[in-house]
Amino acid sequence: MENYDLVIIGGGPTGLNCAIAASEEGLSHLVLEKGVLANSIYNFPDNMTFFSTSKRLEIGKVPFISHTDKPTRREALEYYRRIQQTWDLNIQTYEPVMSMEPHEGGYVITTSKGRYQARAVVVATGFYDSPNMMGVPGEDLPKVRHYYDDPHPYIGQEVLVVGAANSACQVALELWRKGAKVTMAIRGNAIYKGVKYWIKPDIENRIKEGSIPTYWNTTVQSIHPGKVVLQTPEGEVELPNDWVMAMTGYRPNYDLLYRLGLDIPEDEARIPCHDPDTLETSLPNVFLAGVVCAGMKTNSLFIENTRDHGTVIAKQIARRIPQLQTT
Ligand code: FAD
Repeated sequence: MENYDLVIIGGGPTGLNCAIAASEEGLSHLVLEKGVLANSIYNFPDNMTFFSTSKRLEIGKVPFISHTDKPTRREALEYYRRIQQTWDLNIQTYEPVMSMEPHEGGYVITTSKGRYQARAVVVATGFYDSPNMMGVPGEDLPKVRHYYDDPHPYIGQEVLVVGAANSACQVALELWRKGAKVTMAIRGNAIYKGVKYWIKPDIENRIKEGSIPTYWNTTVQSIHPGKVVLQTPEGEVELPNDWVMAMTGYRPNYDLLYRLGLDIPEDEARIPCHDPDTLETSLPNVFLAGVVCAGMKTNSLFIENTRDHGTVIAKQIARRIPQLQTT
């Protein structure tokens, strides 16, 4: 079985950052990624622009060059490819981690393809793989989408956008501008206050002028071929419908986190137990890094404010390695 000082689960910006920090500390490392390099970002909308400036996304002292202050998805993918090459990171893609068990003072990690031994493990699996489901009849129909890529398939179509946060507002605006017939269903009575300052007035004005009809204090009751039923303050409303964009947010993959053996409180935030200073979980030498550290509070951590995680973790492991080798 191959043996590493550190196995990192997840090849997103955080996983790459942890691998760089491991290299800097002279630790052998392996990144296991279930999809492609930077898989979440690869699956972001095609025309997406980051809200962070490229400077604030830089890792590993590699300059992030973009055409304007804020990089596009395409520029970010180019950047992460360059990070991997510059630092010669050891990444295996298309290899999902299934489980992990303690073994001889370290851990054995089982993937779809094999087993690896590690003295320490970083869980950097993000939150983008598991959408928050609405839990309504018809949600499993192929016309219901929890991920948005490109406006082209929706031109001239009746589209219901569900949600009031950044993604919902951006999707509604882009679809409307490209020629879809967009209606929004919003659970509360306002656009989410955390929507970025350049998006919020735009969506509010499109709603006010009637370009994007919006049902407030409204939930989706059921979805059917050709129509949706909404529960509004005035009662049930039936709308003609071709597509539902359920932009209801995402959550960490808790099934996986349980399978890895992490402790997770059953409260609202469901933040996997870890020390916020050391990032170590209740399993010795297993660390949490990146946006997964926020549990269900997915609007609190970003690439920007988790860039120190790799260094914090790698320095601790490097200090412990002589001890770990003798156990
Ligand atoms: P991720 O990028 O999600 O990486 C986790 C990786 O783990 C993925 O590649 C996934 O495939 C992999 N993985 C999952 N399960 C397994 C498994 N079982 N085995 C192996 N691999 C696995 N943040 C900013 O700072 N600035 C921004 O402008 C910004 N814009 C955003 C826009 C959108 C639309 C979204 C959704 C988020 C945005 N964020 C932004 C938030 C956050 O920074 C990103 O979500 C970022 O991708 C988080 O990095 P991460 O490495 O922690 O997680």
